[in-house]
Amino acid sequence: MATAGYRGRFAPTPSGPLHFGSLVAALGSWLDARAQSGEWSLRIEDVDTPRVVPGAADTILRALEAFGLTWDGPVMWQSRRGESYRAALDRLQRAGLLYGCACSRKDLAARARRGVDGPVYPGTCRARGLRAGLAWRLRVPQRRVLFQDRLLGRVGCDVARECGDFVLRRADGIHTYQLAVVVDDAAQGITHVVRGADLLVSTPRQIVLQQALDVPTPAYLHLPVVLDASGDKLSKQTGAPPLDPLRPLPALRAAARFLGLGDPAGDDVGDLLAQALARWNPERLPPLRGARLGSG
Ligand code: GLU
Repeated sequence: MATAGYRGRFAPTPSGPLHFGSLVAALGSWLDARAQSGEWSLRIEDVDTPRVVPGAADTILRALEAFGLTWDGPVMWQSRRGESYRAALDRLQRAGLLYGCACSRKDLAARARRGVDGPVYPGTCRARGLRAGLAWRLRVPQRRVLFQDRLLGRVGCDVARECGDFVLRRADGIHTYQLAVVVDDAAQGITHVVRGADLLVSTPRQIVLQQALDVPTPAYLHLPVVLDASGDKLSKQTGAPPLDPLRPLPALRAAARFLGLGDPAGDDVGDLLAQALARWNPERLPPLRGARLGSG
């Protein structure tokens, strides 16, 4: 079924090569976009420069090509988007929605309660009027964020209670993931976000920020996350083995199986993807376990 104006994206962090978990996210978002005759953009999330591994972005791009996951238009690089992030911060600043924060991680670890994604900022610096050389936080409104996830249904989260005012620019000058994703999804005109359920905890913060910046909220589909043998998310940090782009078929077939597409046949990548595309149906995805934030 074609959805007019569908625009999806894959947004890997180049902290290592593509692994099976990220292939699943890439394939899920590619299939969803192509099944709706949509466009699929690629964005390299290299905003957090200390985490970037030299050469990893190129390795990811080459692997995506080998897996047949072709993208539309030029690749967006977050490391080149500083001006847009600064413009968004200026706008929030003018609206009185930002404040400087001098709290250290240690202060927070000692004082903050834990929420869905780490310490909840207790608001220590909210009224201090601090400015230069600090982290910048967004004033989060006291209201529940509700959104419709295409797999989970209604999801609700009280961001003020679960996260508190969150950081948009760190004290070392680096713009954060939350800021960069929201500014870039808007700049790329993304209408549909399909990504791993490990990012479900970030979605309510991103919606708060979209509302503060007055940009549209895309549709969300959070995919089940691939776990390793000990039940943790398969990730570059936990040493997930890289994929072999010279032998794309076994991994592609396994990723399709993980996404509930059975065992699509096919002797080459193009064939296999065509079959997976014909079968793609988000309703067939395996259920999400333990990923709920809370229903509306
Ligand atoms: N860069 C993030 C990651 O690799 C994904 C961001 C997103 O899809 O919003 O986990």
